[in-house]
Amino acid sequence: MNAEIIAVGSELLLGQIANTNAQFISQKLAEAGIDVYRHSVVGDNQSRLLAEISAAQDRAELIILTGGLGPTKDDLTKETVAQFLGKKLVMHDESLHFIEQYFKNANKAMTANNQKQALIVEGSDVLVNHHGMAPGMILNSQGTILVLLPGPPREMKPMLQTSVIPRLLKLRKGEPVISRVLRYFGIGEAELEDRIEHLIHKQINPTIAPLASDGEVTLRISAKHSEVKTAQKMLDVTEADINSIVGKYMYGKNDETLLQKTFELLSSSQLTIASAESLTAGLFASQIGSQPGASSVLKGGLVCYTNEAKMNLAGVSDKTLAEEGAVSKRCAIELAEGVKNRLGSDIGISFTGSAGPESLEGQPLGTVWIGIAFQSNPPIALHIKLQGERNYIRLKAVKHGLFHLIQ
Ligand code: ATP
Ligand code: MG
Repeated sequence: MNAEIIAVGSELLLGQIANTNAQFISQKLAEAGIDVYRHSVVGDNQSRLLAEISAAQDRAELIILTGGLGPTKDDLTKETVAQFLGKKLVMHDESLHFIEQYFKNANKAMTANNQKQALIVEGSDVLVNHHGMAPGMILNSQGTILVLLPGPPREMKPMLQTSVIPRLLKLRKGEPVISRVLRYFGIGEAELEDRIEHLIHKQINPTIAPLASDGEVTLRISAKHSEVKTAQKMLDVTEADINSIVGKYMYGKNDETLLQKTFELLSSSQLTIASAESLTAGLFASQIGSQPGASSVLKGGLVCYTNEAKMNLAGVSDKTLAEEGAVSKRCAIELAEGVKNRLGSDIGISFTGSAGPESLEGQPLGTVWIGIAFQSNPPIALHIKLQGERNYIRLKAVKHGLFHLIQ
């Protein structure tokens, strides 16, 4: 099955927002083994949208439209699709009831505009919107499947994942393609590719596709087989082959994040953590704090930016600062031990380094020390050298800290 995505909205053409919906939809279709051949963006203009849908129908087996399902005058997507198919818009009672109920509960007056959101193209398969008002729709036009999704990402994403993808998987012709994403940290894309080059070289089925982003590398492995179970087994073998070489860098799969994995490990091991942060100024603690259930894991954090703060808050000795400096192994260890002891956590973690623009204490830019003190074990410190602009270095340092905690 080949697909095209049409994003509707003048705000996209004006550059006011980025077309992240097309990116997300493409990712999910690729994971489902559906080939996306084209993205297009059309403003809120009926004749141009009509022309785009008509051209796409000649080329694609699946067209996904996003945006323009709302209540305002510039929301024209379903009107245009109805016109294209020569169909009427009809009231969808269930959606209308849902919208009325919403206004009643919120104690707000409902306008005629809002009723418009419950109109659907005659004959469509309705997709319930659990995060907003406008329902989505699936239609068939001369063998092409048309999917209409709302524009707001928080409405569009769950609708795509829970309602659309499962239906498409059922409809898709040919052998299913099953994909899995393997996530790596601490190894560059070039090195990873280099080390598994012989596997990439001989790939046909399953295929292996590397991608680098946000300082991490992912490998998408995809297998084609008429039996889903067999495809999964083929992926298991490929994954094992890859990880016999670079397994120590893998932290998770599919949608898992490094932060989630680390947090889950700390939480399931009932370990508490506290941070003393110079370079990252609270970024690590803030990330742990973003996780639901953080209060059972995060004891607290110290932002120890200046040398006085390192001494006063975490108890770093003035001797260490005078002899070794703030960007040093000894300082990282004293920060980690200091915060662990002062806040009574199982783990103390510290970040100190030079993120630029000026170098600190004559240390090259990107020099980072991460200290880890764990219960009564001897504390350790990691020395890493990072490149990039200031905030990239700070974020990447946090990722190194997170990754080390799951090693
Ligand atoms: P609403 O009921 O909110 O009007 P809608 O389905 O009519 O929803 P639009 O009016 O096209 O959707 O867009 C609403 C908002 O959704 C936009 O202002 C923007 O924030 C977001 N949005 C729309 N399209 C995209 C897109 N392609 N990528 C990312 N965000 C988008
Ligand atoms: Mg709108």
